[in-house]
Amino acid sequence: MKRIALIEPRRFEVQDVERPSPGPGEALLRIRKVGVCGSDVHLFQKGRIGDIVIGEPFVIGHECTGVIEEVGEGVSRDCIGKRVAVEPAIPCGRCRWCIEGTCNMCPTVGFLGLPPVHGAFREYISHPAYLLEDLPDEIDDAAAVVLEPLAIAMNAVKLVKVRPGHRIAILGTGVLGTCLLEVLKLYRGLHVVCVDLAADRLERARRMGARETVRAAGQGDEEIAAEIRAALGGEGADIVFECAGAAQTIWNMAEVAGPDGHISAIGSSHDDRIIFSSGSARRKGLTIRYVRRSLHTLGPCMELVRRGELDPGALVTNVFPASEITTAFELVESQADGLLKALIDMEQW
Ligand SMILES: [Zn+2]
Ligand SMILES: [Zn+2]
Repeated sequence: MKRIALIEPRRFEVQDVERPSPGPGEALLRIRKVGVCGSDVHLFQKGRIGDIVIGEPFVIGHECTGVIEEVGEGVSRDCIGKRVAVEPAIPCGRCRWCIEGTCNMCPTVGFLGLPPVHGAFREYISHPAYLLEDLPDEIDDAAAVVLEPLAIAMNAVKLVKVRPGHRIAILGTGVLGTCLLEVLKLYRGLHVVCVDLAADRLERARRMGARETVRAAGQGDEEIAAEIRAALGGEGADIVFECAGAAQTIWNMAEVAGPDGHISAIGSSHDDRIIFSSGSARRKGLTIRYVRRSLHTLGPCMELVRRGELDPGALVTNVFPASEITTAFELVESQADGLLKALIDMEQW
């Protein structure tokens, strides 16, 4: 089979390798579509994300759909031929956190597309069968790929307990920020303010229900914070979702939060050490909640998409054949105008 390995930062190579065979409890998937995630772009740029370094030629990619072609020992053959969404996190199932039901906190969790588990930019993967979800016909591949970030957004919203009337700031309206807007459609009476550098993203946010938008380009931190607070009605946000991981949004998350506010930190930051005002955070008694991927939210998201209440497929703006993966990554990296979610079609070479 073919796989696309990252052989050094910014360089992909198509390689011929042996097709994996499914081990006990696993299924062999023929990959159809793979989303380009912000974390994949980090790996593409630097060969690392946070403290995780990818060494030898390595296959990234974790937001994918596929069709089951073979099963390993202990897996029912009934699932052969089914089109599925993939839960990329592989918890150990034995530690305290797995047993208590917070398996997203598993300290030894494996993850599709992070060492040592090769990712989805290849024709076939073997994955634990219990982490595959049958896709109903109502959910096409594009929507299914965006289910993964959508499930993270839903987890973030659950953790901060959004209530009607809340004033909410979303800092960064890339894929995660837009997935948050999508999930927040399910709530009534919110006052949502979206902040981004890119005008096209803010326009999309307005179409999707943001009450106000603030373009954070070409101003100092203080001015931007003041403008966001004004858009929120003066007293700051009950909930701030930090989705960009940029120095400016991390600084602003504490500045635009209101008294007793909650911060939901979702973005992965470029620098491991981050700076915000401890004075602001302490005076306002802020609660900061880091979001570790998703937890039991993939299933509920699928159901809401199937019923037409959420439409993650609308976030997909570009589909590239496998042969154009480098172009796709470069466009995502440069936040090309109009581009939000890019997919790679792994059946087109
Ligand atoms: Zn992702
Ligand atoms: Zn565990």
